[in-house]
Amino acid sequence: MNDCVFCKISQKKIPSKVVYEDDLSFAFEDINPQAPVHTLVIPKKHIPTVLDLKEGEDDHLIGHLFKIANKIAKERGIAERGFRLVTNCNPESGQTVYHIHLHVLGGRHMRWPPG
Ligand code: AMP
Ligand code: ZN
Repeated sequence: MNDCVFCKISQKKIPSKVVYEDDLSFAFEDINPQAPVHTLVIPKKHIPTVLDLKEGEDDHLIGHLFKIANKIAKERGIAERGFRLVTNCNPESGQTVYHIHLHVLGGRHMRWPPG
């Protein structure tokens, strides 16, 4: 999608601190980190929210994003300590970028319930 900031990041039209890339996915450091580890994992395919996931068609992709999040958590040394995966959907959740992403957050104690 032409005006999507995360599409542009995955196409390297906007610079980012790249953490991981493959054919399906892209991971980069959040520009405004909320924890010592705050990495975003996105599909290269433009999907605005989790509500737009297509049953069947996107099942593999979603599993893949979780796999990459796990890999990042292990590499950053937060897997055993604990980490949080967050996907916001629509305004009340706080979603600001309408290209689905997994926030990989860790390196500090996470509070519950979230704000
Ligand atoms: P959300 O509010 O769940 O939609 O998350 C969007 C996230 O994208 C926020 O944590 C922002 O800090 C982050 N973000 C926005 N623009 C950029 C960018 N150009 N590079 C890296 N992270 C970004
Ligand atoms: Zn996009």
